[in-house]
Amino acid sequence: MAATTPLISIESPAELSTAPPREVAPGFGERLRDSHGRAITDLRVSVTDRCNYKCVYCRTGEEGTHYAELAIADYLRMIRAFVALGIEKVRLTGGEPLLRAGLVEMVEDLAQMRTAWLPNGSPATEGLPLDIALTTNGHLLESLAAPLKAAGLSRVTVSMDAVDAATFARITRVPRSFERVLAGVRAARDAGLGPVKVNCVLLRGFNDDQIEAFAEFSRRERVIVRFIEWMPLEEPSTAPDARNWKPETVVTMDEIVARLNAVRPLVDLAPNATSETARRFTFDDGLGEIGIIAPVSRPFCGHCSRIRLTSDGKIRTCLFSQSDHDLYGLLRRGGTDRDLQTYIGQVVLGKEARHHIGEPGFQKPARNMVHIGG
Ligand code: SAM
Repeated sequence: MAATTPLISIESPAELSTAPPREVAPGFGERLRDSHGRAITDLRVSVTDRCNYKCVYCRTGEEGTHYAELAIADYLRMIRAFVALGIEKVRLTGGEPLLRAGLVEMVEDLAQMRTAWLPNGSPATEGLPLDIALTTNGHLLESLAAPLKAAGLSRVTVSMDAVDAATFARITRVPRSFERVLAGVRAARDAGLGPVKVNCVLLRGFNDDQIEAFAEFSRRERVIVRFIEWMPLEEPSTAPDARNWKPETVVTMDEIVARLNAVRPLVDLAPNATSETARRFTFDDGLGEIGIIAPVSRPFCGHCSRIRLTSDGKIRTCLFSQSDHDLYGLLRRGGTDRDLQTYIGQVVLGKEARHHIGEPGFQKPARNMVHIGG
């Protein structure tokens, strides 16, 4: 990292949002918007806290879960409440979502839901199908890609932090994991779950030698490779191979761009949407696509349209929230659909303006990435 470049450049959510801020929760049936004027359209749902990988930058290396998982029917009921308020995209995650029994059937049910608003902002009498996405480590994807596609899954993102098999196994702490994931990526592409995105978290001195190989991988395998800056969301660990977050370990967007430009000149691609988190590139011959997501060096909080539901049914308004909101508790106590929607509206109102990574006083949240749902 160049010593003269500050790690973080902050953009103000208030500056970036075009809608007026709101101070009161939306009424029943109103569209979700937070107090900074951001429309909330994107829900991430963790369907299990279990994971079959123990990636060195994410987990301690120990087996086992920290949080409960709920009946699929309960997730679906809570998701319906979010959809009634304007959620258009649902991403299933975990833990590792492909470990969850009933996932294919859950996707079938999600595929029956319709958005409550049309893209032009008018309430829909008959809305559009949800955009249903999945984030997975890909270990079990080879056999599940086609059934998930048939059930109505729109797209898949596979996490893959190296294209070198030995480095990959050192990261996941699972032998022969690379071959499984590669087969999963190819099966997803062949099933039409595309364009398949492959997400890579780079750690300086560990897998940052993979940048150029990932550029080749994108071109050869016809997948979108996205590099994501490592955030301070790992389980703290004293294991000898564990990685604990330090700013110096983050490989920033500027460095990645410089390295890729040395492979072949990069050409900017237009964002797909205002809330796009990735800066997108192709190469000068149009082959391959690279995205770079820089939550640390260039936060995009001003455009955040996301909200999360954890495996135990808690709402999180930001990855770095210091508290959870117990939506499942309300459901369990007999809350009606209307109660759930009112509660969601109130919780969203308190969505944080931005994260504070790298600032004095920054506090890691009690939940780590694997227990939130990335
Ligand atoms: N098991 C699934 C998977 O591997 O994609 C879903 C859960 S996993 C926690 C989701 C994503 O979060 C993965 O792409 C992983 O690389 C990423 N991730 C985990 N810890 C992270 C961190 N501290 N900073 C940035 N990304 C992280």
